[in-house]
This record gives sequence, C-alpha cells and structure tokens, in this order.
Amino acid sequence: MKLQLKNSSVFFTILIFLCSFFISFCSSSQDFDFFYFVQEWPASYCDTKRSCCYPKTGKPAQDFTIHGLWPNRYDGSWPQYCDGQSHFHKYQIWDLIPKLEKNWPSLNCPSSDGVKFWAHEWERHGTCSLLNENNYFQAALDLKEKANLLQVLKDARIEPNGDFYSLESIKEAIRKGLGYTSFVQCNVDIWQNQQLYQVYLCVDKFAKEFIDCPILPRGRSCGLEIEFPPFFSPFVDSI
Ligand code: 5GP
Ligand code: 5GP
Repeated sequence: MKLQLKNSSVFFTILIFLCSFFISFCSSSQDFDFFYFVQEWPASYCDTKRSCCYPKTGKPAQDFTIHGLWPNRYDGSWPQYCDGQSHFHKYQIWDLIPKLEKNWPSLNCPSSDGVKFWAHEWERHGTCSLLNENNYFQAALDLKEKANLLQVLKDARIEPNGDFYSLESIKEAIRKGLGYTSFVQCNVDIWQNQQLYQVYLCVDKFAKEFIDCPILPRGRSCGLEIEFPPFFSPFVDSI
C-alpha cells in the first residue's frame, strides 16, 4: 500500500514536471510562425520632430540599418519577452560587435554604443526565437547582407535624394530585386511629408530564408507617394 502511494506520487510529480515543461516550451520559444526582419532608413528616423543622435562610433553610413528580427504569428499577433531569465550579455556577442556597430547602430539620444538597443531587441524579441543570443544577432547580420535594400532600390533608380516615389514602385523594386513581397512603413518629417521609414521582410522560423509575407502588419502604411530623404546632419541633436 505504502509502495503504491509512493509510486503514484512519483508518477504525478513527473507528470506535473512534464506538463509544465511542455506548456512553457510551447508558450514561449516555439510559439511563433515566422520572423519580420525590419530595416530602417536612418535619415527618416532622424528628421522627425524627435530628432536623433549619432552613435558614439560616429555618423552611420548612408545605408539601411537593422531595427529588429521579430518572431510573429500567422494571425498577426506576436510573443514578446519570452524568457525573463535570459538577460542580454555583451560577452555573448563580442565577436559581432564591429558588424553590429555598423549595421545595427542606435540613433537615440543621448549618443550610445548600441548595447542598450541590442539588449532591448534581444529581451523583447530574441528570447522568443529558437536561437541563442549569438545566433540571433548573427542571423540578423546575415539577413542584412542578403537583402541589400539600398542597392535594389538604386537599381530601380529610386535614390535617397529627397524625391518622392510611388509606394508601388518601391515595393515592386524590392520584389524584383529580392524576389519577395515586403511591407513599407512611413513616418512624417518635420514638414509632415510621408517618408520611407522601415521595410519589413519576412523570414522562415529558422531565420535563414526570406519568404513571402504570410500576413502584413496592420494599420501602418504610407501615402501613395513617399519621400526618400538623404541623410542630412541638421536634424541631428548632438554628435
Ligand atoms: P510601433 O508601435 O512603433 O510600430 O512598434 C513598437 C514596437 O512593437 C516595435 O518596435 C516592436 O518591438 C513591436 N512590434 C510592432 N509591430 C510588431 C509586429 O508586427 N510584430 C512584432 N513581432 N513586433 C512588433
Ligand atoms: P521596439 O520598438 O523594437 O520595441 O523598440 C525600439 C526601442 O529601442 C525603443 O525604445 C527605441 O527608443 C529604442 N531605440 C534605440 N535606438 C534606436 C534606433 O536607432 N532605432 C529605433 N527604431 N529604436 C531605437
């Protein structure tokens, strides 16, 4: 009788352990279907009312920069902050820092070295991916290298020169150049012009291959004609 009781309590303990493991595994790291890989145009981040500050490493090159690699679900929802225990550690990405400084700088004020921005992106989004910290940042850098947005746009004669281009021509240039649909997000400059701010590309859940977007972000689109601004300094607060 005693042995039977002992056996059943061991059985229930194991069962509870397996259930909680299954629930936490399914509701956190695996609970997404694909990624949004979001790149931003630094000039458009800066020439808004809020302005910006150059990173401590100096003015970024005139190129798109990474905003984030965000796990997302087919129904448009997304998980975030999936593992409160998994804090960002700079030493985990020491080998990637020069590339991150170039491709994933922070333009917030006051000027910074980017670490706070990377930590935020890791803790909010990276902890929900299937990747460890180093692989997460490496995957984003690899995707940026594969998707040279500025070149693809230049090939279609869409240049950051302050001209206005049709939203359709921008999306078509990206589709033609990279082979996949994208989502273009705008913000407004200090004169209230709609301008090219972010480009979302979709990526499989292993963060390897671009895919056609299963669902596009809702309610954040642009006007029909949008500006592609150059990277002027006057909008920058401090260097
Ligand atoms: P905003 O409201 O400025 O578009 O987005 C604020 C933040 O919410 C983003 O920086 C990002 O962290 C998160 N976010 C916004 N839209 C999405 C989305 O469609 N998917 C995911 N995974 N995160 C998003
Ligand atoms: P998300 O919108 O991804 O949740 O968060 C972006 C956060 O990082 C915001 O709090 C934003 O202020 C901060 N941040 C710091 N530097 C940058 C930058 O260069 N670009 C963007 N988009 N956000 C930045």
